Amino acid sequence: MERVYDVIVVGGGIAGVSAAVAASRLGAGVLLVEKGMSFGGVLTGSLVNPMMTFHSHRRQVIGGIGQEIVERLIRERGSHGHLEDPIGFVKSITPFDPEKMKSVLIDLLREAKVDYLFNSLVGRVWVKNGFLQRIETVNANELRTFIGRAFIDATGEGNLSIKAGARYINGDGDRASCQPMTLVMRIGGIDRDEIISFINKHESDFVLGERRDFFYLAVAGFFSFMPLLRNYRVNFRRDRLLFFEIPFHPGEVFMNTTRYAGFGGSAVELTAAQSDGNIDAWKFMDFLKSEVPGFANASLIQTGCSIGVRETTHVTGEYMMKVDDLLGQKEFVDKIAIGSYPVDLHVPESGELKTMKIPFPGEYSVPLRALFPLGLENVVLAGRALSAEHLAFSALRTSPLASATGMAAGICAALSKGSHFRVRDVPIKNIQNEISRMGGIL
Ligand SMILES: Cc1cc2nc3c(=O)[nH]c(=O)nc-3n(C[C@H](O)[C@H](O)[C@H](O)COP(=O)(O)OP(=O)(O)OC[C@H]3O[C@@H](n4cnc5c(N)ncnc54)[C@H](O)[C@@H]3O)c2cc1C
Repeated sequence: MERVYDVIVVGGGIAGVSAAVAASRLGAGVLLVEKGMSFGGVLTGSLVNPMMTFHSHRRQVIGGIGQEIVERLIRERGSHGHLEDPIGFVKSITPFDPEKMKSVLIDLLREAKVDYLFNSLVGRVWVKNGFLQRIETVNANELRTFIGRAFIDATGEGNLSIKAGARYINGDGDRASCQPMTLVMRIGGIDRDEIISFINKHESDFVLGERRDFFYLAVAGFFSFMPLLRNYRVNFRRDRLLFFEIPFHPGEVFMNTTRYAGFGGSAVELTAAQSDGNIDAWKFMDFLKSEVPGFANASLIQTGCSIGVRETTHVTGEYMMKVDDLLGQKEFVDKIAIGSYPVDLHVPESGELKTMKIPFPGEYSVPLRALFPLGLENVVLAGRALSAEHLAFSALRTSPLASATGMAAGICAALSKGSHFRVRDVPIKNIQNEISRMGGIL
């Protein structure tokens, strides 16, 4: 007998977990399926850190389940909470221990009584008259099917909707335009004092914000050292080192510096990038240990289980967000979340950054329509899978906003029970009221 759920969420990143918890808290029977062996998506599987940003330049803009996750992390000694960004790129950053993140997300799901499955890749799907009806999960030799009334696509790449027939584009219309992939490295044994002393003597070699007490070490710079990287014959180019301390792990940092061009939606290109990353990690360690102050005794602890994929496909939504919506701070009547992260485009080949700040106060809204894939009646997009064009996506993809759109998607899917699971027919006011009731900020 196939199990029937009110809401099936595919993808257990921060968006999928937020969606599943929100839907379940509203009384829906919820199943969450994840192809990996932990929740958190790239935040745990690819070592992406810190979360940024929960704040605009004048206030906190992300609350709700995202904020609840942070508070639980603080209680579990997995985070110091929101900190002023030492690099000055955004208002606040929220570093965390990814192992603590894994257990906190499981606690949340268990308390909310969400059914969940790991190691379950959604392969085949069945659609009738625009309604997604059934999904099949694959785990080794085990194939299981589940019937859902409403579905949430929190796969990051929108692959549930695409399998169900939704239209999409790659990058800005060309696979090669997708932002590069990064293999994040966890490195131990760094000499914090030596790094701080070097920064204080060579400020122009770094991007620095206003806070200079080094309570928390986040570094973008060592620009003058980067030309030496060529001598270590790595397969990537980069103009700076970018690394962040790991809370409660003295001497350890997440190094977010490698960059690999390629299309993460292709197994061949993904394999090539991951392989280059694993080989380069050791050469890069040689570079750090030999050339960079504070790294002489450093050692590589771990690389992300999966290389971090920033961008692949964008589902065509009922509304596809554009960069002018962000820069012009368009106020959508059907807004379901507020974001503040700036446009942040990593150039695939050169390793440079192209950024655009959002004018003060640095807030933009996300409309509910950006969560509806065209042509599907009972599917809601969440997190990185939301519908956005390439440039807008470079801002909208980050994790706090992913949790906020995830929570909104969960609310919408749960409330759609009252409209025969036609997610577009749920009154926006009801969704907004629930968002506020759950601590979301609009
Ligand atoms: C290298 C890199 C650096 C970044 N830096 C930052 C940063 O500093 N700060 C920040 O806030 N954000 C950063 N981001 C962006 C941000 O972390 C992610 O975009 C965000 O966390 C996305 O969350 P999500 O839940 O939407 O998707 P994901 O975390 O991608 O989760 C999607 C989940 O769906 C699962 N899945 C996919 N397809 C299927 C399927 N068919 N069946 C079952 N499961 C499936 C995946 O296994 C995954 O667990 C970065 C991203 C990358 C890649």
